Amino acid sequence: MTNSHYEKYKDTIKKVARRNYRKRIVLLSEFLSDKSCNHCGESETICLKFYPHDAEIRKLTKRVGTSNESRKEIFHLVGNSIILCSNCWIKRDNDLLEFI
Ligand SMILES: [Zn+2]
Repeated sequence: MTNSHYEKYKDTIKKVARRNYRKRIVLLSEFLSDKSCNHCGESETICLKFYPHDAEIRKLTKRVGTSNESRKEIFHLVGNSIILCSNCWIKRDNDLLEFI
């Protein structure tokens, strides 16, 4: 692909990449939409993370396709995580919160 070709289709390429990216992360957003922080009850989806597998789950979600097969590993990690908001996640990560 030449630079001029890229220049010409740059916007389209970006748009498609963004659309595919959104399709994948929407899985997590949907999952978190009716969840709330396990510790303080924060229910704002954008604040919620998976402890302790958040980075791995998000990495997998971006990498794998949207078929049920490739989602299995994600759901496995999700099943082994608790939902925490960003604040509680940081506190938990620094051993400032006690969980039973
Ligand atoms: Zn919280």
